Amino acid sequence: MMDLNKKILVTSPLLPSLEEFNLYLKDIWDRKWLTNNGYYHQQLEDELAKYLNVPYLSLFTNGTLPLMVALKALDIKGEVITTPYSFVATAHSLCWSNITPIFVDVDPKTGNIDPEKIEQAITSNTTAIMPVHVYGNPCDVDVIQEIADKHNLKVIYDAAHAFGVEENGQSVLQYGDISTLSFHATKTYNTIEGGALICHTKEMKQRIDQLKNFGFVDEISVDELGINGKLDEVRAAYGLLQLKHIDKAIEKRKELTEIYIENLKNIDGIDLLDIKADKLNYSYFPILVDESKYHLSRDALYNKLKENNIFARRYFYPLISEYQFYQQLNLPSADKNNLPNAYKLSQQVICLPMHHELSGEEILKICNVIEGE
Ligand SMILES: *Cc1c(COP(=O)(O)O)cnc(C)c1O
Repeated sequence: MMDLNKKILVTSPLLPSLEEFNLYLKDIWDRKWLTNNGYYHQQLEDELAKYLNVPYLSLFTNGTLPLMVALKALDIKGEVITTPYSFVATAHSLCWSNITPIFVDVDPKTGNIDPEKIEQAITSNTTAIMPVHVYGNPCDVDVIQEIADKHNLKVIYDAAHAFGVEENGQSVLQYGDISTLSFHATKTYNTIEGGALICHTKEMKQRIDQLKNFGFVDEISVDELGINGKLDEVRAAYGLLQLKHIDKAIEKRKELTEIYIENLKNIDGIDLLDIKADKLNYSYFPILVDESKYHLSRDALYNKLKENNIFARRYFYPLISEYQFYQQLNLPSADKNNLPNAYKLSQQVICLPMHHELSGEEILKICNVIEGE
C-alpha cells in the first residue's frame, strides 16, 4: 500500500548503482588520472554523441559554462534576442559576457520564444538569437533558422531540457550553430553537476575544448581568453553508468505523463501546454491554472498540494526579466507590457512532481487533490 503521508517531491535524481560506481571509482584510483580529458571523460563524450545522435559533443562541469563558451567561440557581442521564460542561467550567460539580453515574448501555447516577435526586436546591434527548448519542447527551429539566415545572426540553443529530444527525424540538438545541455542533478539525465556543448565541426569542437581549458592550444600557448569548464573523471564515470538506466527512466516518465494527462484533461481551468515532438524526455509536467475557471488561484493550489505532502514547483516564476538584477538594467524589453504571454504563463504555471521513482498511484493522488473542491 502507498504511504499516504510520504512526501511526494517535484523531482528526484536518477542515480547509478553504487556497486557499479565503486568499480569505476577503483579504476580511477588505480589510474590516478582525475581530470583534463581523462579516460572516462573521452568515453562519455563518445557514448553521449552516439546516444544523442550528434556529431561533436564537449563535456562541461555544468550547464552554464557551455552557454558562455558558445558566446565566446562564436564571437557574439552587442545584443542577443532571448526568452524571459527560462531559468536565469540563460540570460545570465549573456550579461556575464557583456552582452545585452533582449527579451522577446513567448508563444502562450508552447512557452517557447515566439518567432514572429523575433524580427521586430532585431537592431543593428543584434548578433545572435538564444532560444530555449522549454520543458524539452522543441522551438520552431526552421522558422528561427530562416530569420537568423536572413539577418546574418548566429543561433545558440539553450537545450538544457532537451536531452534526447528528436524532431523532424533528428536530434533537436543539431539545430542552430551550437546547442548546450545541462546535466544538473534535477535534469532527466544528470552527472550531479555537468553539461555539454554540441557543435557541427571538428574544428569548432577543438576550439571549444581549448576554451574550456583556459584557452590552452598546447602545453605552452594560450591564444585567447579561456575558462575552466572541465568535467572530472568521477562525474564522467557516474555519467557513463547513468546512461545505462536513462531509457528506462524516460519510459517511466512517459507512462506517468500519460496518467497525468488522462486524469487532468476534464478538470475545468487546468490546462496543459502544447508539448510535442517525435521523441520527448518528459523532464517536467507543467500545468496552467486558469483562475477564471478553476476554483482556486495558482498559489492556493500550490499551497493545497503542499498541505497534502505534494511538493510542486512554480517554474518559471518569476520571469528572468522580473528579477531585481534585470529590472535595474532598465531594459525596455524587460518591461512586463512587452512580455504579456510570458508573464501570464509564469503566473499560471505549476510543475507537478515528475521523476522515475513515482508510482501511478501517487500520480492519481496528485490528480485527486487537484480535482477536489
Ligand atoms: C538547468 C538549466 C541551465 C544550466 O544550469 P546548470 O545548473 O548550470 O547546469 C541552463 N538553462 C536552463 C533553461 C536550465 O534549466
